[in-house]
Amino acid sequence: MDNIDKLTEIFKEFPGIGARQAKRFVYHLMMRNGAYSENLAQLITELKKEVTQCKECFRFYLNSKQKDFVCDLCADQNSDSTLLMVVEKDTDLESVRKSRLYNGRYFILGGLVPIVEKTTKSKVRVNELLEKIKKSSALKEIILAFSLSPQGDHTDHYIRGEINPLAEKMGIKISSLGRGLSTGTELEYSDNDTLKNALKNRQ
Ligand SMILES: [Zn+2]
Repeated sequence: MDNIDKLTEIFKEFPGIGARQAKRFVYHLMMRNGAYSENLAQLITELKKEVTQCKECFRFYLNSKQKDFVCDLCADQNSDSTLLMVVEKDTDLESVRKSRLYNGRYFILGGLVPIVEKTTKSKVRVNELLEKIKKSSALKEIILAFSLSPQGDHTDHYIRGEINPLAEKMGIKISSLGRGLSTGTELEYSDNDTLKNALKNRQ
């Protein structure tokens, strides 16, 4: 395998990138000058050095000091600690945050629960979510915000089942985003109006 193939294989692992696009990326790099590639390589290396996973919400964020390990969102005293939104992935959190429609806390589950598999617990952060709920004394509502797809629905049911006993004991309501999101819509790509309706119509 030469370097063209190796790089193609790497780009193919990027979300939404197929073999043909991956190869186009490689040729794009080949056509640019050396400084371009050096800059890119350096940015990638530095990104990895500065990135930290928040121990509260599990999102990745830039933390060049490499201390504290609680992200700016979780540390924000002005955010609403009575609300906790559970999302699948970092990019979902980013879209909701950018919409400015929600001012509560977040938790990243780390994936959706596969419909057919049995070994779900190891893949998504159910235990971490339970721990997070236990120590969130101000919490009043947990909003499950997964994509409206069969797998998103399945995840919603599964997580409800897992957290319901604890939520009931602590007097916390569990809601899901309303059907403002049309079927198949990824939270990541939903526009502000759609998200606004989904939040307003949560149940
Ligand atoms: Zn955080």
